[in-house]
Amino acid sequence: MHHFHYSGSDLQCESVDLAAVAGLYGTPTYVYSAATMEDNFRRLQRGLAGLDAQLCYAMKANSNLAILRHFSNLGAGFDLVSGGEIRRVLAAGGNVQTSVFAGVGKTEAEIALALENGIFSFHVESEPELARINHVAGKLGVKAPIAIRVNPDVDAHTHAKITTGKSDNKFGIPLKYAAAAYEAAAKYPNLKIKGVQMHIGSQLTSVAPFVEAVEKVAPFAADLKARFGITYFSIGGGMGIIYKDALASGQQAWWDAQPADKRPLTPESYGAALVPLLQPLGLKILLEHGRFMVGNSGALLSRVEHLKRGAGKNFLIVDAAMNDLVRPAMYDSYHEIVPVHRDSSRRALVTDVVGPICESGDCFAKDRQLQEVGEGELIAFLSAGAYGYTMASRYNTRGMAAEVLVKGSAFELINARETFEQMIAGEKVPAFLK
Ligand SMILES: *Cc1c(COP(=O)(O)O)cnc(C)c1O
Repeated sequence: MHHFHYSGSDLQCESVDLAAVAGLYGTPTYVYSAATMEDNFRRLQRGLAGLDAQLCYAMKANSNLAILRHFSNLGAGFDLVSGGEIRRVLAAGGNVQTSVFAGVGKTEAEIALALENGIFSFHVESEPELARINHVAGKLGVKAPIAIRVNPDVDAHTHAKITTGKSDNKFGIPLKYAAAAYEAAAKYPNLKIKGVQMHIGSQLTSVAPFVEAVEKVAPFAADLKARFGITYFSIGGGMGIIYKDALASGQQAWWDAQPADKRPLTPESYGAALVPLLQPLGLKILLEHGRFMVGNSGALLSRVEHLKRGAGKNFLIVDAAMNDLVRPAMYDSYHEIVPVHRDSSRRALVTDVVGPICESGDCFAKDRQLQEVGEGELIAFLSAGAYGYTMASRYNTRGMAAEVLVKGSAFELINARETFEQMIAGEKVPAFLK
């Protein structure tokens, strides 16, 4: 469920016409629905009723300050992966004390920043990292709260670049060595063992791998509770979203029409499968969903530059490019593309949808069937709220896109389009070239 829909012929986010947003702020522009994020948050919370659960929103999915504040207001902490992300949480007025710090290569400065701001826990990925956190905590005269990320060796059946829970990934410590890692952690004077963590991958579309992973790790978590008095189990993130039927999936009727054996993962089915496995542990449960929280809350608005008709091949050239939304180029991912103004009298068009960047990989869709659109008309890439803006770059000296947040009939610019001057602000020609 989400809040992108047609009102008559016009695509809206909540009650706002997307054409109006593009008219005011130009294109390419990301538009996000505050109501969709709130729904996602509340549904997940309800799905986990019966657990002492805390969402640590994985902010790498979308770390705009306004969105962090929105989740913080709802009661979320954050799953952080860098010192920059800690500073974003602080700048947004969010709570570091309910946040966790993940990642395989935390620097000493990042560890110190997290400790100084009272991080809830570090999610540790290796034994050398235990030594480093212990060292920094000692210098600051504090005890660092930690959990070790265990790798349950579960196949998440997702894209190779986003699977993380197999033993050949760089993430976590294999379950069979994890007990030894906890023994090692217990010997460090400046560490406090607080929990255990896992995360098996991203964009999971069935509950089975989550169940398999929780079943594998839960007995170990119970042991850790008995031996070290751990108080929490973080089961990671990874819930997938609908990309293929993105527009239709905004309506309850679409969900009702899905055959029982093919129903996509929902927060309700996720909770129903996991709560009974987790409840007996008597531990606080942390969740680190990113994509699910924001993915279907966002669309990328773009304007058509040209329709280039070729021999047996059409190219719709638009003003968004792989630097704005890299997922199709990087993960071969699918984004539904819809016209902002729907017109049933138009012919259908089969076309590649491409950006202006000088790379064949700058292609959003191949042989996609769309309503015919022409120069100056608007389209929207749906399900673009997660790993969209945060993975964007300035390739081809294209400034970062604008971002807009909608709430009901209100909308506001939450990130201005980057100017050329901002792009080159740190650059200079050295004296020896002058
Ligand atoms: C990326 C990441 C997440 C979030 O993954 P989603 O698929 O966006 O939910 C959660 N936990 C960790 C450790 C991650 O690296």
